[in-house]
Amino acid sequence: MEATTMSEVDYEEIGLKVGLEIHQQLDTSAKLFCKCKPELFKEETEITFLRRLRPTQSELGQIDSAAYFEFQKGVKIRYEANSETSCLVEMDEEPPHPLNMEAVEAVLTAALMMGSEPVDEIHVMRKTVIDGSNTTGFQRTSVIALNGKIQVGQKTIPMEHVSLEEDAARKTGDEEGNIIRYRIDRLGMPLIEIATAPVIKSPKEAGEVAFAIGRILRATGKAKRGLGTIRQDLNISIPKGTLIEIKGVQELELVPLAVEYEVQRQLNLIKISEELKKKAVRKEEIEEELSDVTEVFKQTGCKVIRKALEKKQQVLALKLPGFKGFLKRELLPNFRLGTEMADRARFWGRVGGIFHTDEMPAYGVTAEEIEEIKKIVKAEEQDAIVFVADRPDNAKDALKAVAERAREALEGVPQETRAANPDGTTKYMRPRPGAARMYPETDIPPIQVTEDRLREIGSHLPELPEQKLERITAKFKLNQKLAKQILDSEHGELFETIVKESGVSPTTVAVFLTETLKALKRDGIQVEAFSESQMREIFKYISSGKLMKESISDVIIWLSKNEDKSLQEAINSLGFKAVSEHEVETVIEKAIADNRKLIQERGESSFSILMGIIMKDLRGKIDPAQASGILKEKLKATLQ
Ligand SMILES: [Zn+2]
Repeated sequence: MEATTMSEVDYEEIGLKVGLEIHQQLDTSAKLFCKCKPELFKEETEITFLRRLRPTQSELGQIDSAAYFEFQKGVKIRYEANSETSCLVEMDEEPPHPLNMEAVEAVLTAALMMGSEPVDEIHVMRKTVIDGSNTTGFQRTSVIALNGKIQVGQKTIPMEHVSLEEDAARKTGDEEGNIIRYRIDRLGMPLIEIATAPVIKSPKEAGEVAFAIGRILRATGKAKRGLGTIRQDLNISIPKGTLIEIKGVQELELVPLAVEYEVQRQLNLIKISEELKKKAVRKEEIEEELSDVTEVFKQTGCKVIRKALEKKQQVLALKLPGFKGFLKRELLPNFRLGTEMADRARFWGRVGGIFHTDEMPAYGVTAEEIEEIKKIVKAEEQDAIVFVADRPDNAKDALKAVAERAREALEGVPQETRAANPDGTTKYMRPRPGAARMYPETDIPPIQVTEDRLREIGSHLPELPEQKLERITAKFKLNQKLAKQILDSEHGELFETIVKESGVSPTTVAVFLTETLKALKRDGIQVEAFSESQMREIFKYISSGKLMKESISDVIIWLSKNEDKSLQEAINSLGFKAVSEHEVETVIEKAIADNRKLIQERGESSFSILMGIIMKDLRGKIDPAQASGILKEKLKATLQ
């Protein structure tokens, strides 16, 4: 049976339901519960401290299985910090300060713009987190408003709640000896969280809703900019599959693709389960009996295995009865059932990856070596074998996790939380946690949301995105598409600033801030590294004639390779010295004089040939429209 691809899916028919949870960092002057700067640091760390990960019990006395597993393995966390972006609050050595009211007001503003009903009293709650991303073992969160709605096209999308929460520490790596590293600079940054009801019915609609919410957040003027400042969680379900939560989609543009991929993944997993059942593969046959096949690889040409054996590690193998061919089955482009098994092995066994017979011989493992393994594990023709080279305890945990994933393949789509990859695919993150575990944060007193405060905020709400769209379309005479792109970009305000101070045509500025920057980014240019002041300078140069708009991309590319250099140096180095109108006229007159014969023969139709000759001299130094105007005039005069 063929794998399902996206174009074949009728989302209505399969009953897709999607809910979005959008997290956006707020651009406040301090963190949520202390006075530290809400910024990331890139330098060396000044402070590190090591803590052991502890499983926390929920109110009902349940211990999260993943946390307990890691606790048993003795996983430790190395926290890294510097003094500008963290203090004793982030280290959990000092109680949190009262809520940052600047952040509260920003969230109330967004809530009112979405027609939500603010709560009378804000209560800060603790939500258990188990992966070490909070030094306290919980995340502080508070509901600010409920029951909002926004209009997206013809449809009303209910907003279940608008909350304010603290961001978590960011993972920076793994070390030998079961140590995970986190930087706590991000911990405590204020985040607004907006959750829609699960009423979204297609990938396209999911994208539209995500953008609509993103526009409102930007309109508050309090949304932080740049990659990593907005993260979407997606709840995706289809009746035949299961409800999957995908965490951390970092770009709004990726939302539709992430939804498409998840549907495709679930449909293909369902197909695989049906086929396995048809082949009479049974759960009970997938045993966790592992075989030590280290001997087979004594003389191996496989580098990974040889390295492991040099470290006195072992190669363990697991037989998966009836699974031959299924591990290489694509769930998504370049993403197979074997990929999902490898993810599980990495998570539970902390191994680098797995080998399996569906992709063998490869990686230096020979057909003879595979034959020997088959004999040892007593595999039949229709079976698959997975093997791992690592420390025996890690390899064992990894293969147990693979066996578990294989059993789940018989049931269809396993219940789990998945993390978004930058290409729209996802990877296993952890088992699905139970219901949200929340209890009150007793260190912070509740805050009244008074009528006066709401009236004050309500009296100067920012213009709504649809109003802004209307205004910028009319004021700057942009076409609808471009105006929308500007609204959806991070540069709405910058656009208005540049147009105002440079006087360059709004369309030129808008095209640059949307299409040109996007194209450069696609080509691998780090456009995020350019500051607003650099962009403004570029347009000041354009308006004063020191740079042609046709040369912007070249200048940006040059500057991205010469970070410490100035715009003027870029122009000098590229030879983009703008020429005066007098020089332009001289070039044009010379072209006319040199081509008298051509002009006599062809008359006005010699224009395009002449234009080509002229632009050879003037490319990057003059606006072609200007040259064309002058040429037209002079050609006319010559012909008369
Ligand atoms: Zn602090």
